[in-house]
Amino acid sequence: MKKIIALILVLALAVGMVGCSQETNKNVKLDGTYEGIGSGKGGNIVVDLTIADNKISKIEVKEQHETEGLSEAMNIMTNNMIATNSLGVDSVSGATLTSAGFRMAVKNAFEKTGADESALISTGKVEMEKRESEYTADVIVIGAGGAGMTAAITASDNGASAIVLEKMPIQGGNTLLSGGEYAAPGNWVQVEEKLEDSNEQFYKDILKGGDNENDPALARILADNALDGANWLKDYIDVRFEDYQLFFGGHSVKRSLVPINATGFEMINKLTEKLNEKEIPLHKNTTATELIQDKDGKVIGVKATYGDQEITYKANKGVILTTGGFGSNLDMRVKYNKNMGEEILSTNSVGSTGDGITMVEKIGAQLVDMEYIQTYPTCDTQSGTLLYVGDVRMEGRSILVNKEGSRFVEELERRDVISKAVTEQTGGVSYMFWDESAMVDSKVAVKHETEYNNLIARKQLVKADTIEEAAKFFEIDAAELKKTIDNYNQYAKDGKDLEFNKRGELVPFGEGPYYIMVSKPAVHHTMGGVKINTNAQVINTNGEIIKGLFAAGEVTGDIHGTNRLGSDAIADITVFGRIAGQSAAK
Ligand code: ADP
Repeated sequence: MKKIIALILVLALAVGMVGCSQETNKNVKLDGTYEGIGSGKGGNIVVDLTIADNKISKIEVKEQHETEGLSEAMNIMTNNMIATNSLGVDSVSGATLTSAGFRMAVKNAFEKTGADESALISTGKVEMEKRESEYTADVIVIGAGGAGMTAAITASDNGASAIVLEKMPIQGGNTLLSGGEYAAPGNWVQVEEKLEDSNEQFYKDILKGGDNENDPALARILADNALDGANWLKDYIDVRFEDYQLFFGGHSVKRSLVPINATGFEMINKLTEKLNEKEIPLHKNTTATELIQDKDGKVIGVKATYGDQEITYKANKGVILTTGGFGSNLDMRVKYNKNMGEEILSTNSVGSTGDGITMVEKIGAQLVDMEYIQTYPTCDTQSGTLLYVGDVRMEGRSILVNKEGSRFVEELERRDVISKAVTEQTGGVSYMFWDESAMVDSKVAVKHETEYNNLIARKQLVKADTIEEAAKFFEIDAAELKKTIDNYNQYAKDGKDLEFNKRGELVPFGEGPYYIMVSKPAVHHTMGGVKINTNAQVINTNGEIIKGLFAAGEVTGDIHGTNRLGSDAIADITVFGRIAGQSAAK
């Protein structure tokens, strides 16, 4: 009995204390606007947090340097914080660093109220948008990267209704994270610069770059339709391009168009606008898990999950698979290529987990070239992300050296060749060297000021007045580096690189300051995937068409053979995304 009374007393006390603390919190006046600072992926995030009637009423981001497109994560978190009156909302998948930096900034602002976070009385949990358990459209597209949105828009232009499913909270996939460059023979910048090029030359480059392991018919379609696709993006989707182009490795001529600001954001943003304009539903946070077939094997729909809800998407005409590659799926990487283990970082979106490949394999689709996984040669040594400051290489204005101060590869070679060469150098890294004139003339590197500052802060890039000083920073053999530069300048004078026969114009290095950036290869593109024909129809292991199923983009295989050339992916997703959209709408 005594025990029971004691328990009642303890409980009463506890309830009283909770009541008391809530009472105290209710009495704390939080109202006002407070500034807070956090550290995101690209640097400082500064916010103004406004509280009215003890409720979060507004969060304004005053400064941020996050990846364009992924900065959407801050809007999502703002809405959720306001909806729940809480700072404890989930991070946005695919934008972890941005989410953490934003939360840090908001918490920092809240600290200035002098109160504890519990003073914000929660108004419930985040409500997900309501969904039906079944949807029907002519065409269901799985994956809202460049290929998926292109396919959906084209299907709609061909008279079909479409729904796009995207598993992440933010669309764009690897396309968004890319530089967005687009290889197009005969493009308007080439015409302006009077550069000779042809579809045939591009076709040959694609095959040569892929060691002739490509399906020639698919490579031919890519080469013959690349320019048309670029014009479609420019004229119909309203993608803005810079007035210069880049010389990507392995191409025999400069033919790579650059979207405005040299990022994939322009394409994803404009494709999203077109999707909205055409009222094509984009169901985000929706993961396709299984393809549905009728008794004859025709694909007639998709099963998907949305939170803990199961949704069936029925397709009257076809399902288009545009789920991207598997660069972020370690198990799958190692399954197909044991050299692609966890020691190699990745440039990929966290959504690139090969879901499409797993789904089609279950229904007997043919997979090709799965072992060919490309690393991008010059990535961040700490995070694996692409380094756009390093595009000074594609502007023909930098060389790659090793710790010993020597060049070791042609700087405009194929990505796989450079990557392999880098791995064989001391420490498995390369050092990119350039001078001030390259920086002054640069059109790309200078567009990435945030990345530049971030690299300097993390000691991955140095700017120094002399070659010796720059070399010393990374403990590179300075005397040898100076010799390497003298030799290179002589080659530039003679118009021929006697060591590596570097393609393009050779520009000598001049006065300082000088720049050196360290980098190493990271998984970038998975060349293998689903076998398709020239109509983007998926082929089974018997070589027959799987009715009702189409695929485009990185999920497909055999277009690029052993190795995709830089800037061919955006051409690929546009060309085959359009074909898939047309075919599925029939
Ligand atoms: P591509 O360049 O071929 O268009 P991306 O990587 O740009 O490829 O886009 C692929 C998109 O597909 C990504 O946004 C990714 O999140 C999405 N995705 C991957 N798997 C699924 C899935 N199971 N369900 C829905 N979307 C998916």
